[in-house]
Amino acid sequence: MTLSGVARVAFVGSRRIFASHLPSMQSYTPAFSRQMSVGMKSVTDRLRDSGLLRTQGLIGGKWIDAYDGKTLEVHNPATGEVIANVSCMGGKETKDAISSAFDAFNSWSKLTAAERSKGLRKWYDLLMAHKEELGQLITLEQGKPLKEAVGEVDYGAKFIEFYAEEAKRVYGEIIPATLPDRRLFVLKQPVGVAGAITPWNFPLAMITRKVGPALACGCTVVVKPSEFTPLTALAAAELALQAGIPPGVVNVVMGNAPDIGDALLTSPQVRKITFTGSTAVGKKLMAGAAGTVKKVSLELGGNAPCIVFDDADLNVAVNGALAAKFRNSGQTCVCANRVLVQEGIYEKFADAFSKAVKNLKVGDGFGEGVVQGPLINKAALEKVETFVEDAVSKGAKVLLGGRRHSLGMTFYEPTVLSNVKSEMLVSREEVFGPVAPLLCFKTEEEAIHMANDTNAGLAAYIFTNNLQRTWRVSEALEYGLVGVNEGLISTEVAPFGGVKQSGLGREGSKYGMDEFLEIKYVCLGDMNRK
Ligand code: ADP
Repeated sequence: MTLSGVARVAFVGSRRIFASHLPSMQSYTPAFSRQMSVGMKSVTDRLRDSGLLRTQGLIGGKWIDAYDGKTLEVHNPATGEVIANVSCMGGKETKDAISSAFDAFNSWSKLTAAERSKGLRKWYDLLMAHKEELGQLITLEQGKPLKEAVGEVDYGAKFIEFYAEEAKRVYGEIIPATLPDRRLFVLKQPVGVAGAITPWNFPLAMITRKVGPALACGCTVVVKPSEFTPLTALAAAELALQAGIPPGVVNVVMGNAPDIGDALLTSPQVRKITFTGSTAVGKKLMAGAAGTVKKVSLELGGNAPCIVFDDADLNVAVNGALAAKFRNSGQTCVCANRVLVQEGIYEKFADAFSKAVKNLKVGDGFGEGVVQGPLINKAALEKVETFVEDAVSKGAKVLLGGRRHSLGMTFYEPTVLSNVKSEMLVSREEVFGPVAPLLCFKTEEEAIHMANDTNAGLAAYIFTNNLQRTWRVSEALEYGLVGVNEGLISTEVAPFGGVKQSGLGREGSKYGMDEFLEIKYVCLGDMNRK
């Protein structure tokens, strides 16, 4: 049985797409659903042989079907083929997953940091040992080119390695006492069970970035991956079990997102919600977490400006903007959403950038030399079309692309638009596709004003060779991350997160640990008693 119409509509309502631009996913699924091709069958057979093609949820260390037997189809976005049917779970399964995580917390949190570290390190080793298979799985269900998918496995696994190390550095503190017979301590302790809700654009890395620090701190987790990309999550969970991470420490449920979300939000046993996804869903989760006053971290939508100043090195700016914009076909929350170019370099940049974009090879992620895969689904494709149509109707000029790709499905031509204005949809909201809108500015002040004129505040990029300007602009940008002369900046060792409506908290780096720790003050009195 496939996911009910009601549930599908609920998922559509929560996409990283503003409601007014939403097509119905029911019109998407049947037209794009096809039988499995021979090529894909051989990939899935290999994955099945290696034990990594899991389709059931993981609760208390056991692989489990949805209690009512419902399943949901996972599609290859490049072909529309059904890769697998996975359990379509809801509130009941989630409650049991929470109970398992709660029981496991008792023992996992009491292990020494060194013991937890060993488990995480083993998990990292297994993720790396299965890098190719995991990469294939990501390409199959998410569509990104294989090389990029394998790169995601590297990147994602590094969070587990980093936090295996960081587990051993959860230091407390002794505070100089204010009275002679007292001693004051600060302990850091795990918050408890964490609910981790993740999106489809990084099927592995968004999970490891949350689960790595959670486990390192002594928390246990219930992971809810995106229904579009559950297979990578399940394979990663299988490897966690193989690594000897005890049953119940990592649980995975997927299916009816609102039901799963409600179960996580209302349970007093869940002490932390960590989420990456749309701003709309993030706000709902934040409101829902208020009922039980949970700790919340949110990594939400962006509207990244990429500012190219007259004094930039043209090649560096073109390559940096290309990487920042077209990675994962534009489907990341740190993707450059607006390219702001100073008037003195505008024409040269537009020309060189368009030439570079023209060379991007589009195709099935398994194809040789392909660097641009399909969009995740038809809703995403139609959103990109709407944004481009809106821009063109308001005076933008198409320098390149601007339409669906001849490959069909959800492929869209890498696109460059010039003469874009701040009031166009493509400047106001996250396009989440391979469209680079170029906006012209005159002065540094104007660029900063344009860049900050949004509710989002995740990533920003600047290209300049002027050191003073680098500092001035970096400090003035209301963003959580700033790339200077670089378009790819995220790494496990640096804090990732946004300001304004792009979110709360940080992931990665030592700061990522704080999200899963409580601070406890202990006052020891009566020291003078013999
Ligand atoms: P994206 O467009 O990046 O997938 P979403 O916010 O729609 O952004 O989805 C991110 C994650 O949030 C997915 O795992 C999705 O299933 C989940 N999700 C969507 N709606 C809800 C909800 N009401 N409660 C809990 N999780 C949800």
